[in-house]
Amino acid sequence: MIVHLVRSKEYSAHSFQSVLHLLNQFTGPVEFLASESLSEINNAIEVEIADKETFEKKDIPPPHFFEANYSREMPKLSIQFPHKTQQASWGHLFEKCAEYRSINGIPQNELVILLTDIGNEFNWFGSIDSDMRSVFIHTSDWQYYFHGLHERFPIAYEIVSWIFRIIMFDNRLEIKTSMHNESRGCLMDFCEDKKQIVFKMRTADFCSDCFQILEKTSVDQRIIHQLLDGLEGIRKNFLSVERSNYLNSPRKIKIKGFTHTIIIPDFGDIEIPLNPKQKALYLFFLKHSEGVRIVDLIDHRKEISIYYHRFSTFGTLEEIEKSLDILLDPTNNNINEVLSKIKSTFVKVLGQRLAEHYVISGNRGEKYKIKLSPDLIDFESSI
Ligand SMILES: [Zn+2]
Repeated sequence: MIVHLVRSKEYSAHSFQSVLHLLNQFTGPVEFLASESLSEINNAIEVEIADKETFEKKDIPPPHFFEANYSREMPKLSIQFPHKTQQASWGHLFEKCAEYRSINGIPQNELVILLTDIGNEFNWFGSIDSDMRSVFIHTSDWQYYFHGLHERFPIAYEIVSWIFRIIMFDNRLEIKTSMHNESRGCLMDFCEDKKQIVFKMRTADFCSDCFQILEKTSVDQRIIHQLLDGLEGIRKNFLSVERSNYLNSPRKIKIKGFTHTIIIPDFGDIEIPLNPKQKALYLFFLKHSEGVRIVDLIDHRKEISIYYHRFSTFGTLEEIEKSLDILLDPTNNNINEVLSKIKSTFVKVLGQRLAEHYVISGNRGEKYKIKLSPDLIDFESSI
């Protein structure tokens, strides 16, 4: 089975290659070929989408669309909202597939899949022409549903899904009537609320009803094996990225009680054990999310001094002030030593990657700051 992947002009060549590379990791009788020429969607119009709900919702094409011979005659677009985006009619997108097929002499038994950043009139992730040989897939906006995930995974998933549907069903109407309106985590979930795609892709599987349909098909079993391998590979990649995003995302830091114990509640209330001097400097930077240059710290001596005296249970007032003199002396390396100790403490407790969000860092001569977003800083009591 040969599948031609056609890149639309506005779709990134880099993303296109990474999708192709991903699909080619799964070997078997399905052969994915990259397009030799680019397709240009020249009939798109600019539309504005009003709100989040509209953006996330699929529309239903008119019933006659699913009649066997109904193909290109689509009604004009009539959507006006504040979010500006390019949209083309389904008919136009299928015409582009037909054009590619005709120019390149692609035989009817081979599939043509057009990948385009241009949206489509019913706001679908992709759809199929009435000949069941040509498909378009929308390649942009995936980041909206999958934060931090490379779009090659959902795009490859859509490609594999459409090939499965071509294998399982005889026509577009059959596909439509077999779609599940409720979410089953099945490849045939309709996902009217487009956010449901996340659930579908996390499982990347078939429900038992759909498996029965798949089992009855007379297609070469090796094709099914290859496509299932593809789904499984995409799912694993998806989950590992999702998991690592989760594991590497910083959690709230809490400053607790009179002594300002520094804890991370989400990690079992784990404490960051800083000594009084380190803690005084750390809290100062937590309070100054805008950042402060090391040479300017001397201007904030009073504030740092209040913290230091509060936390220090040893030493006389003079000893603390002397220690501050050393800390804030720009010619002394003491500040770098303290910063480095704070860093190593965070690394020891949280590991290198997570610690990056919490430590005081900056380039020499520039402002030093803690990267952590202010909404992740929780002062239980004010100083
Ligand atoms: Zn199903």
